Amino acid sequence: MKTRIIYGPILSRRLGRSLGVDVIKKAGTKKNCNFDCVYCQLGHVDYKIKGPEEVEGAVTTEEVVEGIRSFHRNIENLDYITFSGSCEPTLNLSLGSMIRGVKQIIDQPVCVLTNSSLLDREDVRSNLAEADLVIATFVSGNEDTFRAIHRPVEGIRLDNIIKGLQAMKDMEKRPRLGIEIMLVDSTNGYPVNGTDEEITKLIEVLKTIDPDEIEILTVSRPPAEKFIAPVADIRLKEIAHRFDEEFGRDRVKLVLKVLKRGKSSMQHENLEEEVYDLLLRRPCTFEQICASFGISSAQLTPIMEKLISSNTIIRIVSENGAYYKAS
Ligand code: SF4
Repeated sequence: MKTRIIYGPILSRRLGRSLGVDVIKKAGTKKNCNFDCVYCQLGHVDYKIKGPEEVEGAVTTEEVVEGIRSFHRNIENLDYITFSGSCEPTLNLSLGSMIRGVKQIIDQPVCVLTNSSLLDREDVRSNLAEADLVIATFVSGNEDTFRAIHRPVEGIRLDNIIKGLQAMKDMEKRPRLGIEIMLVDSTNGYPVNGTDEEITKLIEVLKTIDPDEIEILTVSRPPAEKFIAPVADIRLKEIAHRFDEEFGRDRVKLVLKVLKRGKSSMQHENLEEEVYDLLLRRPCTFEQICASFGISSAQLTPIMEKLISSNTIIRIVSENGAYYKAS
């Protein structure tokens, strides 16, 4: 099945309704990333790439602009255009010109979700400066825990990421900077980041970055590693309280599992393809798919049956329930 670089709408617990842009195409089964996170919802990265120069399937500015031009007429009430998708968007060095191109044809604010790995590069920071909001993942202030959770390609170091985030906050023209703290637990003693010591260190380091907002969340989709588990809500609330005390309630958001059903004003050209595109980028429950597209279970059921019987998607059961993903 053909996949698109523009996909959506994505109904996100953090960003509301957004249209997703994937700036690096998945090359066959190969996932382009310089991390291999234990919590990744897209599964393992077999071969980690060192940087933008090694990316296969980089999308061009023209493809993104054309894609947005033809897609955005089909949807209203978007909260964001979000650059994310099936890999790390800053690995595409045309990101800045893509954002400029998108802003010329659509009024919605642009958000980039990044794993923070390349923020020590000046060219990457100036690309991100074109966005309205950058949400950068930051899981630990300790190098060992950072390495255990992200399993980065050789050459990426936490101290450089911290310097990159500080430099971004100091830029004269810059987007709003949000830090996403993905908290994980484990079932086998694997190093995790929700302990009191880890939180103390995280707070200490984040004070040197001084982000505009901080989002605290945990795993909600089936992770790459079976031994990784979500942090319990009660512990998430305790941790959020510590962040509230240090950074103020206005800056701290705790993202819990509840996903409100959103109203869709999207006209669907090919719902089957759109469902497949969504599941290629992120596993979803049946209810999440209905909410993302604003459709009823009666509309979705025959599509899911068809995609499952053709082995285009599979059903997986995790601690959080049954999910569907592209096979
Ligand atoms: S979670 Fe993001 S950064 Fe981590 S391996 Fe998956 S795609 Fe890469």
